[in-house]
Amino acid sequence: MKVALDKWEHFGTSIFSVMTQKAMAAGAVNLAQGFPDFDGPDVVKEAAIRAIKSGLNQYAPAPGLPELRKLLAQRQQARTGRKFDPDSEVTVLSGATEAIYCAFQAFFKPGDEILAFEPYYDSYPAAAFGAGAKVVGVPLLAPNFRFDPAALAKAVTPRTKAIIVNTPHNPTGRVFSREELEIIRKLVIEHDLLAITDEVYEELVYGDARHVSLATLPGMDERTLTLSSTSKTFSFTGWKVGYAFGPAALTRALRAVHQFTVFCSATPLQAGMIEALKLGDGYFKELRADYATRREELLRVLTGAGFRCSEPQGTYFVLADYSLHKDVPDREFADWLTQEVKVACIPLSVFYTDAKAAARTNRHVRFAFCKGMDTLKAAEVNLAVLRR
Ligand code: PMP
Ligand code: GLN
Repeated sequence: MKVALDKWEHFGTSIFSVMTQKAMAAGAVNLAQGFPDFDGPDVVKEAAIRAIKSGLNQYAPAPGLPELRKLLAQRQQARTGRKFDPDSEVTVLSGATEAIYCAFQAFFKPGDEILAFEPYYDSYPAAAFGAGAKVVGVPLLAPNFRFDPAALAKAVTPRTKAIIVNTPHNPTGRVFSREELEIIRKLVIEHDLLAITDEVYEELVYGDARHVSLATLPGMDERTLTLSSTSKTFSFTGWKVGYAFGPAALTRALRAVHQFTVFCSATPLQAGMIEALKLGDGYFKELRADYATRREELLRVLTGAGFRCSEPQGTYFVLADYSLHKDVPDREFADWLTQEVKVACIPLSVFYTDAKAAARTNRHVRFAFCKGMDTLKAAEVNLAVLRR
């Protein structure tokens, strides 16, 4: 065959699939892949079932069900004050993953560079590759995982077209402060860049941390595409209902790709999410309180087992330093913990452009707390061997 079967080979299999498979094979407690091991609200499930039974089973309009776009715009306005026109500025996509992929295909050409704070989510370099572009990492520095403004400025080249900002940040749990976003804003405007935000953990912030949407900063409105998803917010990661807010010109470009990627996202699941968006403020408060409890529990379990953890300000992940246990590369540690201790996690080095170099010095792994209290308890029981 003359086709390039190896074109995407260098990306291998996503670490999230790999570690979940290893967890299952080892019978380990899976704190690796970030999916809740519980379902979202019953009323949302029932709405999707009703939609299927009542015949909402054909293609939705490509940009999404109008009612869902309207409710998404209302919620965004309530959260940020910015009004988005559901017809021309809101798009429903199949998860934030599809939104990221389509945005990158829409906006980037071969040779373009996109800045991203490193460690970064694994779909960014893949989406860039699809467009012939590349992600350029700007380090978030341990132990606080802040960035150096000088390093950010230095990363800009004539090829730089955009920055992707993920806050709350996977895998570090950082929530970027208004001051940090202001530095980003200045750079974006100075160099006439596009900003793409990945705000899938926007509802999961703890303590004093406040999530600020980059699009709300002065001058950012017309140059920001805001991406998010119902995956984490409503605990239905398998439904893959994501969405994008952006000015009409950016939205048109995004939709041009979306219509040829999936055309539209699953109709009855969009109908389910209409019910989810009607749940009201009480739901979001409860979600946050619930996750704050799980976060405390995982921090207690990991600290008790000899890990040094940084407290996440947001997301449902904890980064843990394991150097008191072993001085081995993080993939080796993650495999050992999964196979021998029966608790699965994600090595941090996979979130770096040069994963091999990162593995030489990095001694952190990521644990997820989007799990039932019984799952976290089971992890504690298994981790008890580390105390001896
Ligand atoms: N961005 C980040 C930072 C994520 O952690 C995830 C993962 N779940 C996604 C995007 C993808 O979200 P979705 O499930 O909506 O595709
Ligand atoms: N975002 C999830 C994580 O970081 C995984 C999503 C996926 O497996 N594609 O664990």
